[in-house]
Amino acid sequence: MALKLPIYFDHNATTPVDRRVFEAITPYLTEHFGNAASRNHPFGWKAEAGVENARRQIADLLGATPKDIVLTSGATEADNLAIKGVARMYRDKGNHIITCVSEHKAVIDPCKRLAEEGFDVTWLTPDEFGRVSPEQVSDAITDQTILISIMGANNEVGSINPIAAIGRIARDRGVFFHTDATQAVGKIPINVDEMCIDLLSMSAHKIYGPKGVGCLYVRRRNPRVRLRCQMDGGGHERGMRSGTLNVPGIVGLGQACSIAAIEMSDETQRLTALRDRLQAGISAGLDFVTLNGHPTERLAGTANLSFAYVEGEALMMKMKDIAVSSGSACTSASLEPSYVLRSMGVSDELAHSSIRFSLGRSTTIEEVDYVVAQVIKAVIELRELSPLYELAMENTDSTTSA
Ligand SMILES: *Cc1c(COP(=O)(O)O)cnc(C)c1O
Repeated sequence: MALKLPIYFDHNATTPVDRRVFEAITPYLTEHFGNAASRNHPFGWKAEAGVENARRQIADLLGATPKDIVLTSGATEADNLAIKGVARMYRDKGNHIITCVSEHKAVIDPCKRLAEEGFDVTWLTPDEFGRVSPEQVSDAITDQTILISIMGANNEVGSINPIAAIGRIARDRGVFFHTDATQAVGKIPINVDEMCIDLLSMSAHKIYGPKGVGCLYVRRRNPRVRLRCQMDGGGHERGMRSGTLNVPGIVGLGQACSIAAIEMSDETQRLTALRDRLQAGISAGLDFVTLNGHPTERLAGTANLSFAYVEGEALMMKMKDIAVSSGSACTSASLEPSYVLRSMGVSDELAHSSIRFSLGRSTTIEEVDYVVAQVIKAVIELRELSPLYELAMENTDSTTSA
């Protein structure tokens, strides 16, 4: 089959809606358009049935019960609701929150906001592989700690945190544990009971569902978590999130969860093989390539690589028919390199040289081979223009011949 260009290797940013998800959604845009809160006619009942079915599908993927699921507009809202909601509800109990500097902005910024409001936030630093250890978390807990928020898997480098061990510590010490599992859900097995998770954020559009919908798992027993809501209004979602439910989006989220549950294990195997082929192919054709993230405790589809002596942005420009992300956030106004890579101790130079390849459900072996060839070609061309690279080569030549 002919290769279709451009190639999408940016699945950690967003994913296309799976055809099966699309088909589940469409009736809820047209015939079943009712308001799920309309209790007195069949239009409302039909919409509510769609929502309740989705709630069950989501809960099943997490090992939760449907009543624990609070539907939101996505993971950013879920993170805000979890963090600010717990902090403001349990302020009398304590004012200390533990999180990590390599979290997504949707966790970092709410924690900064709370710090402005007088909360005491401990910012853990991840190790060189981008992971937080249970000991670090344990050591940071005080008698004032009310919440620990540590992500399931990192969006930039794919490193997977020891969530079950952190959850165990939180439970033993009587502290609530929130995890932003947006990148983990549907990719690695999650069970909120076994992992002692009290709050969990996720988003549909990272798992082949539509954008603008997600949810927060909120534990209702052993222990019960109470939240101060962000949005006041009609009292939807047990008062935790007012606003008319996005019925088609929610149906899509449910369907996406149910597909992920069935296909996760085979897809993980398939993506691991493709990702390893990508890494091996690139490393065979180029020197000075380093992996950012944990070698094994990492999402199957994610490979964040640094190409020394090459600017990530320049590399992306050369590979116009390949969609990836770079660790130099030049899209924003700043020229700051990725804060995630820096927190792992990666130098500014290597952070600027990094590219995140994130593979997904539609990725083929032909695409991987094409990307390998394009990356090698582009890096060689750029390095030919680099005096620093030339110097490095001369140095390695002299050391090997010495
Ligand atoms: C994408 C992402 C988010 C934000 O999710 P939205 O649904 O787009 O708000 C939060 N956390 C992580 C780890 C993500 O990857």
